[in-house]
Amino acid sequence: MPDRLNDSYYRATADAWETQCSLGSALDCDVVVIGGGFTGLSAALACAEKGLSVVLLEAQTIGFGASGRNGGQLIPGLRWSMQEIDAEFGREQAQAIFDLAWSAGARVHDRIEKHNINCDLKSGHLEAAFKPAHFDDMKREAEFLSREFGWESIKVVAPEDMGDHINGGGYHGGVYDPKGGHFHPLNYALGLAKAALQAGVRIYENTAARAPTDKGSHVEITAGAGLVSAKHVVIAADNWTGDIAPELESYAVPIMNYNIATASLPHADQLLPSDAAIADSRFVLNYFRLSADKRLIFGGGEKYVQQPPSDIAAFVRKHMVQVFPSLAQTPIDFAWGGAVGVTMNRLPHIGRKGNIFYAHGFSGHGALVTTLTGELMAEAVVGTMSRFDVFANLPHSRFPGGKWLARPLATLGLLYYAMRDRL
Ligand SMILES: Cc1cc2nc3c(=O)[nH]c(=O)nc-3n(C[C@H](O)[C@H](O)[C@H](O)COP(=O)(O)OP(=O)(O)OC[C@H]3O[C@@H](n4cnc5c(N)ncnc54)[C@H](O)[C@@H]3O)c2cc1C
Repeated sequence: MPDRLNDSYYRATADAWETQCSLGSALDCDVVVIGGGFTGLSAALACAEKGLSVVLLEAQTIGFGASGRNGGQLIPGLRWSMQEIDAEFGREQAQAIFDLAWSAGARVHDRIEKHNINCDLKSGHLEAAFKPAHFDDMKREAEFLSREFGWESIKVVAPEDMGDHINGGGYHGGVYDPKGGHFHPLNYALGLAKAALQAGVRIYENTAARAPTDKGSHVEITAGAGLVSAKHVVIAADNWTGDIAPELESYAVPIMNYNIATASLPHADQLLPSDAAIADSRFVLNYFRLSADKRLIFGGGEKYVQQPPSDIAAFVRKHMVQVFPSLAQTPIDFAWGGAVGVTMNRLPHIGRKGNIFYAHGFSGHGALVTTLTGELMAEAVVGTMSRFDVFANLPHSRFPGGKWLARPLATLGLLYYAMRDRL
């Protein structure tokens, strides 16, 4: 990934972190975790808390992937509405999915509190309706969540009350949930990493793992200039999962997404009076929020080719100005991007093959549910499968087209939905 994709506001304001050395020797452990994002860090920490010896391998630096460069939006639930989940899976399975996915926010809050992680956590998430029909859908879902699943924090915001949260965008109403919110994602990742070190996890940065070799009684992984022997493997490498387990590659495709951070805004509170994180209901959504130092952090537009736009700031600015025309001349201090791992049905792909556990493809909804997923993987490693299986049983199919055509075909499908937004 080109370096300019990582020139983020988060890197510039990251907490102090002592870089961990790369692996240069042979090690034994109970669990080797591949990937130092939210999923891997959470899994490593939870395994160490269960008394297991853990090694975490990160090819670059902690938070290098999506976890260190996302929009920081904490959105309760999954990409599917509870109505869709209920209709597809029936009430019993839907209840089990709800109990897990909608409790993911509480797990993140617990981690932040327990480990005293300084990550600018703020309460409040608003989904803003781009079309009147989207507002009707949101009202139905809020009512369903509250009536059928007791999720009562979610509140409908009438079009005339949207000014309590946002001045701009011309949205047709929305739903506000104080159990959602926003945070500084890289500092959350670094906080998890520090907690993991304290719990005894051995972290190696700049150490790329290769595909595991099953030796019967254990698994061996060549990594960096070393070798790790482990009883269990956790693959938490999201968009790079296919490099380690090629059979998983066609279950998710990377979609490039870009963010900017403006200069600090003197009138920030007028733009977003409730300081909520906001995401709109377009297929290719705009999402934005204020940082602790009152910059607007704005994500918008997707690219279905890996090559970033020549001017990322200009590419995102045009989306920002559609929502907030008054920011047309505002300086943009940071512009960056990353790949969102997207599955065919937008539900995360989580599972197990023998002693190898994997989770990837959170489809733009990973900031909360990854922490929980890591903990479920740790439960599964020690043999408690029931909660892990709720996610592992979600159905999945491969993108058609095999290794070479899967990405272009997925792109065509996504372009179709993006075009429908404009109609
Ligand atoms: C621009 C952008 C904006 C987003 N905004 C939001 C948002 O606002 N809200 C939300 O809920 N979600 C958002 N997401 C999605 C969310 O960030 C991800 O779902 C989540 O961070 C995935 O975490 P992860 O730990 O599974 O993967 P990652 O954070 O990608 O971590 C995987 C790690 O594995 C490492 N790795 C890869 N290969 C190897 C190897 N061979 N050996 C060792 N290590 C390896 C990588 O270097 C990387 O650090 C966004 C994503 C992007 C890209």
